[in-house]
Amino acid sequence: MANLDWNNVGFEYIQTDFRFVAHYKDGAWSAGELVKDNHVVLHEASPALHYGQQCFEGLKAYRCKDNSINLFRPEENAKRLQKSCQRLLMPPVPVDLFLKACTQVVQSNEKWVGPYGSGATLYVRPLVLGVGKGLGLQPAQEYLFIVFCAPVGPYFKGGMCPANFVVSEFDRAAPSGTGAVKVGGNYAGSLLPAKLAKEQGFSDCVYLDPATRTKIEEVGAANFFAISKKGVFVTPASPSILPSITRMSLVHLAKEHLGLEVVEGDVFINALEEYSEAGVCGTAAVIVPVGGISYQGKLHVFYSQEQAGPITKKLYETLVGMQFGDLQAPQGWITKVS
Ligand SMILES: *Cc1c(COP(=O)(O)O)cnc(C)c1O
Repeated sequence: MANLDWNNVGFEYIQTDFRFVAHYKDGAWSAGELVKDNHVVLHEASPALHYGQQCFEGLKAYRCKDNSINLFRPEENAKRLQKSCQRLLMPPVPVDLFLKACTQVVQSNEKWVGPYGSGATLYVRPLVLGVGKGLGLQPAQEYLFIVFCAPVGPYFKGGMCPANFVVSEFDRAAPSGTGAVKVGGNYAGSLLPAKLAKEQGFSDCVYLDPATRTKIEEVGAANFFAISKKGVFVTPASPSILPSITRMSLVHLAKEHLGLEVVEGDVFINALEEYSEAGVCGTAAVIVPVGGISYQGKLHVFYSQEQAGPITKKLYETLVGMQFGDLQAPQGWITKVS
């Protein structure tokens, strides 16, 4: 195991030993290989740099009690990356190539997967870039598929802590835009709304649906769910939300493991009193309980600002238990890489 203070790892770039690089040229992807150099040299006219012809993914590798290593639902990331590529006229990375790249990156950097019990994991970041000379606005002729990784700490050190969020005046995505795909262009525009939210003392901002601005869509770069007072798991449905794999997993767990009714529908911002708990979810954060949401100057508190609600907590424990191999996950969710 690498010599890191494993109980105090944050979410920052720490250089590991190997990354995987494949090149698309003349209509085909190369087999790809592991390399040591963590720099990418690009043509100055690469469409990724000018026009945002770029997309990415994020997943984690987890160290189990028996020292083996899990990837969590990597085929779902592979499929989502293909959708992102298709939306930007980039050649989709074959699922097999994606899985091979992630597996090799984790195996070759095995010492960077934190010890079981520390909460640290290895964050895996695949990306696809449109490269080569292309001054006019058109798709690149060549592409790079890169997978690198970095050890990251748990989002919570010592217990889940609710966070407060504020509704943004900005939209994250357009009604028929690129919100549903994980393309870099969606994120630069979210830096300012996030900064403004933080300056007001919130953890991040809530984005409403861009068409009517009446319903919750996303929170920062994470999906949203709420538990109604009747015990229904509700999560927004919209064509401009990025379909989170964590959320997809929670929908299944809420139904099959907690026996809750699940509704993928509307969460109106002016009807938050219908909900007794709320949370935001994604690979990096897993689940962050929502303490309160501020809208038009009023803070609506869900369960509590001090602790997570019981259903949110149960969902968190079930999901994390499966990711680290302590609980039996549904068929196909876990890929052992070591
Ligand atoms: C990546 C991402 C998520 C979380 O997706 P996961 O698959 O759960 O990691 C949610 N919202 C946005 C905007 C994202 O980019």
